[in-house]
Amino acid sequence: MPLHLKPLDMAAELEGYESVLIVSCPICPPVSLATDTGSPLIEFFKNGIKTGAYEDHLRDMREALEQRGVRTGVFTSYLPCTAMCLWTAGQRKRLLKRANGYQAAVVMGCESARYTVEETLKETDCAVLLAMQLVGITNAKLKFKLPLTVELGDLSRIDANEQREEGPAPAASR
Ligand code: SF4
Repeated sequence: MPLHLKPLDMAAELEGYESVLIVSCPICPPVSLATDTGSPLIEFFKNGIKTGAYEDHLRDMREALEQRGVRTGVFTSYLPCTAMCLWTAGQRKRLLKRANGYQAAVVMGCESARYTVEETLKETDCAVLLAMQLVGITNAKLKFKLPLTVELGDLSRIDANEQREEGPAPAASR
């Protein structure tokens, strides 16, 4: 159930920063870019386990910043847990170390990803900015193709506000 996230134009918000670390959640953002562009989630022989459309977006972000003289880096972490909302203490410690020397951390992910980064960097001077906006929830059928390609078929976008949360069953029916 990946969130569908829309990349935001951060040019104005990043004005004045000389170094920017892009902190990327490897789950919902790649799925979002793959579905937005109608491209495969995984083409192993082309991009390994990374998503081509998302890697293109990260590269464009970095190029735009570097053309303005900004030093950039990218941090992500797959193990032991990919989802930034569940990163372990060790993964957060690695982020803290990696962010040293950067003036801003730009979060590619949701508000929970931003929270992870804000909590991790709260004792530093590094500004934390969110570079994606939640627009819904993705539903799709994973399709496996040769050679080692994964596509997202039968795509639906579900408005998060239309979802009804199941509460606990009434005590009498337990
Ligand atoms: S942190 Fe947000 S973007 Fe990343 S996996 Fe969790 S819900 Fe998705």
